[in-house]
Amino acid sequence: MAKINENFQKLPGSYLFAEIGRRTAAYQAANPDQKLIKLGIGDVTMPLVPSVIQAMHKAVDEMGSAETFMGYGPYEGYDFLRKDIVTHDYAPYGVTLSPEEIYVSDGAKSDCGNIGDIFSEQNVVAVCDPVYPVYVDANAMAGRAGDYDGEKWTNLVYMPCTAENGFFPALPDRVPDMIYLCFPNNPTGMAATKAQLQLWVDYANEHGSVILYDSAYEAFIREPGIPHSIYEIPGAKTCAIEFRSYSKTAGFTGTRCAYTVIPKELKVNGVSLGELWLRRQSTKYNGCPYVIQRGAQAIYTEQGKREVKAVIDHYLENARIIREGLEAAGLTVYGGVNSPYVWAATPESVGSWDFFDRLLTVGNVVTTPGAGFGPSGEGYIRLTGFGETEQTKEAVERIKKIL
Ligand code: PLP
Repeated sequence: MAKINENFQKLPGSYLFAEIGRRTAAYQAANPDQKLIKLGIGDVTMPLVPSVIQAMHKAVDEMGSAETFMGYGPYEGYDFLRKDIVTHDYAPYGVTLSPEEIYVSDGAKSDCGNIGDIFSEQNVVAVCDPVYPVYVDANAMAGRAGDYDGEKWTNLVYMPCTAENGFFPALPDRVPDMIYLCFPNNPTGMAATKAQLQLWVDYANEHGSVILYDSAYEAFIREPGIPHSIYEIPGAKTCAIEFRSYSKTAGFTGTRCAYTVIPKELKVNGVSLGELWLRRQSTKYNGCPYVIQRGAQAIYTEQGKREVKAVIDHYLENARIIREGLEAAGLTVYGGVNSPYVWAATPESVGSWDFFDRLLTVGNVVTTPGAGFGPSGEGYIRLTGFGETEQTKEAVERIKKIL
């Protein structure tokens, strides 16, 4: 008889956004006349920019002609895109990579989870708390997390990121083998400095750990001096894998394109992690579509760069409106400068689900309760700049009235 992967049975039932959806739908059904404003959403709302659309149209036409038709592409992505990535995403920051170190895919979510395939089930995994839930659940499915005790997984190393430590994790007591870091961070919206990342790079090199660096929000970095890539940190090439995505950079959440960087220097016991990843991808994945990769490439033209920057500026402006509005209303607020996410402390230590319910039912504003991202998220809510500007302003006014 077939046996299932018992680890799935250990996963707690209600996924954060499902629970938010359930509460929101129940409130809307009971109050059909109320107009909800959704600032909990972690999805983009602006359409693809013209350069991307033109490139994709052209690529679709190529697919319609026998001379230019493309079948299965390279598992690791087309050279045209990999070359542009190293030239435009890395070289300007002084990072030298070769196109062979870039592995194009359909998403950073899948890559962050799938990367576990090339690591032992015995590895100890460290995650920030609060955290993007994918790292936790993917490792729980693989059997690395232990058991869920109602709040935490018994085998994971949780690294609290709180106001006290500036939302940056301290080095843990138990040495992890795999360390997930994400900056600019989801959900806190905080960016990391070079000095902060250097600590982790040195630690990982000293202990033979691998840093899994999620840089999905890199395009939102605006402050000078903030590193755009972990490879700006000396020593990172021997200990870090970096994940990037076109989802938030270029509105590709529904279009799907991302990439993972594994430097040639990154080896465990002499085994190249890049080679293992290619073996994994070529077995379980058949490559990101040609049309999509042509669309992604279009953001590296001068016009494409201008267009995506304008879209990100728009989301950052919304984040600023939220940040400054909530601050003016007396809340303590973090993030929202190099990130679309604003992380606000709830007033008078109200629980984050209670504050969520209050904002939903009194203000008709949907947010995300911090507790859903891990125990250290309790006492916070997350708001995003991905909404529409007039609605964002209106939501901030409603929250001010409640406070
Ligand atoms: N990493 C982080 C931190 C995210 O917040 C998200 C999306 O919300 C992703 C990865 C997923 O990116 P993708 O759309 O490329 O799968």
